Amino acid sequence: MKFPDSAFSGGGTHTVINPATAEPLVDVRLADLRETDAAIERAHRAFPAWREITPGERARLLRAFAATVEDHIGELAWLEVANAGHTIGNARWEAGNVRDVLNYYSAAPERHFGRQIPVPGGVDITFHEPLGVVGVIVPWNFPMPIAGWGFAPALAAGNTVVLKPAELTPLTAMRIAELALEAGLPEGVLTVVPGKGAVVGERFVTHPLVRKVCFTGSTSVGQGIMRGSADQIKRVTLELGGKSANIVFDDADIELAAASAPGGAFDNAGQDCCARSRILVQRSVYDRFLELLEPAVKDFRVMDPREPESQMGPLVSAKQRDTVAGYIDAAEVAFAGATVHDDGFWLPPTVVLPTSSDDPMWRTELFGPVVAVMPFTDEADAIAKANDSEYGLSGSIFTRDVGRALRVARGVESGNLSINSHSSVRYWTPFGGFKQSGLGRELGPDAPDSFSEVKNVFISTAN
Ligand code: NAD
Repeated sequence: MKFPDSAFSGGGTHTVINPATAEPLVDVRLADLRETDAAIERAHRAFPAWREITPGERARLLRAFAATVEDHIGELAWLEVANAGHTIGNARWEAGNVRDVLNYYSAAPERHFGRQIPVPGGVDITFHEPLGVVGVIVPWNFPMPIAGWGFAPALAAGNTVVLKPAELTPLTAMRIAELALEAGLPEGVLTVVPGKGAVVGERFVTHPLVRKVCFTGSTSVGQGIMRGSADQIKRVTLELGGKSANIVFDDADIELAAASAPGGAFDNAGQDCCARSRILVQRSVYDRFLELLEPAVKDFRVMDPREPESQMGPLVSAKQRDTVAGYIDAAEVAFAGATVHDDGFWLPPTVVLPTSSDDPMWRTELFGPVVAVMPFTDEADAIAKANDSEYGLSGSIFTRDVGRALRVARGVESGNLSINSHSSVRYWTPFGGFKQSGLGRELGPDAPDSFSEVKNVFISTAN
C-alpha cells in the first residue's frame, strides 16, 4: 500500500499503527510551529484569488474535487481500514460521504444569497462575506467525514482552509489534500498540516490570520479552544462529546429495537460521538428487551475489518482499548459478544446494567463498545433520565405512537434525534449538540452561513 507523504518535517515523526494488528504502518512527518505559521500564511495569500473566483468556477472546482474523490474511494477506504481499523463497509461509506458533501456544497457558491430588506430612503442589501483562513481540527474517530464537513462548506463560502488531522489518523486527510490539487484547486486553498494538538491545533487558535476554528473532539479540549478563541473573538464551531439515550417504549416494535440497538451502540467500536451508549427501556418490556438484546449482541460480527461482513473492528489504539477495558473491569458485565484474540486493540461488545445513574458506565462517555441499559416507568421518567447528562448530542426513540414520538423528541435536550432508527448525521440536515456537546451546527443547507459574515449595505436613493 502506498502512503501519502507530508510536506513538513520540523515537528518530528509519528508512527502510524494498524489497530487491527498493532503493526507499524508508516512514519508521518509532523509540522512544527514555524511550518504551521508558514502554512497559515500560504492559505492567507491564496485567499484573495479564491474569494474572487467566479461562483460558477468555484462550484466547478468543488465538483471536480468530488469526482476525484469518487475515483479514489477504494484507495481512501483501504487507507482508513489500515489506519483506523474501520470496517471496509464503513470506510467506503466514509469516503463516499466526502464526495457527497463536496457535491452538496458545490451548489452553494452559486446560491449563497443575501437579502434585499425594505427600508426607508433607499435600498438595503446583505452579502455573505468569507472569513479568510479557517482552521479545521479533526479527531481520530471519523477522520474523513469530519474533515469534509468542515472543509467543504468553508471552501464553498470562499474561505481557504488549513486542516489538522488527529495524530493517530492523518493518512486519509493527507491523501484528500493531494486529490484536491489533482482536481485543480489552487495551491494553498486546502492545506493539511499533520502535527500535535498542542502545537498545530493551538496555533490555529492563537494565530491572528486564522479567523475561525472548526473543532471536533473531546469536551475538555473544546473548552480550551473556546477560552483561547476569546482573546481574538475568533469564531468557533465545537462538536464535542456525547452520551446519547436510546429510549424504547412498551408500544414499540421491540424486535426491531433490540435488533438495531447493537448497531446504534457498537458501530465504529463505539467510538462515535453519537453512539447510543445508554438504553432506556420501559419497565413492562425490560426483561423481554434484554432477552432479545443478548443474541443480537452475541451475533454482532467482530472480525478483521478488511472482511466485507465485518460489523466491528478494533479500537483505534492501545491507550483507547486500555481506558475502556479499565471501565469494563470495574463493572459487572451482564453479557458480552465475540472478540478477536489477536495482537490488535480488540474488545468485545459489552452490556452492563447499572443500578444508579451515578455509575460511570451511565454517565461517562467511554468511547468504546459498551452500552448501559436501565428501566424507566413513563414518558416523564424517560425524558428526565435521558436529560440527566451534561451532554446532548443525539438519541433515538422507539414507539409506534406518533404523538408520543414527537412529544418525547421535543422533550429530550439533544441536537439530533431519530425515531425508530439510529440515524444521526445526514449531510442535508443540521448536526450539532445541546449543552456540553457543542456550539453551532455543521452540515445542512445553512453551513456556508457559519463560514461567512453578514455584511449589510444601504444605498441611498435620496439624491
Ligand atoms: P481530542 O479532543 O483529544 O482531539 C481532537 C483533535 O484536537 C485532535 O486533532 C487533537 O490533536 C487536537 N487537539 C488536542 N489538543 C489540542 C489543543 N490543546 N489545541 C488544539 N487542538 C488540540 O479528541 P479525540 O480523542 O481525538 O476524539 C474523541 C472525542 O471527539 C470524543 O470525546 C468524541 O465524542 C468527540 N467527537 C465529537 C464529535 C461531534 O461531532 N460532536 C464527532 C467525533 C468525535
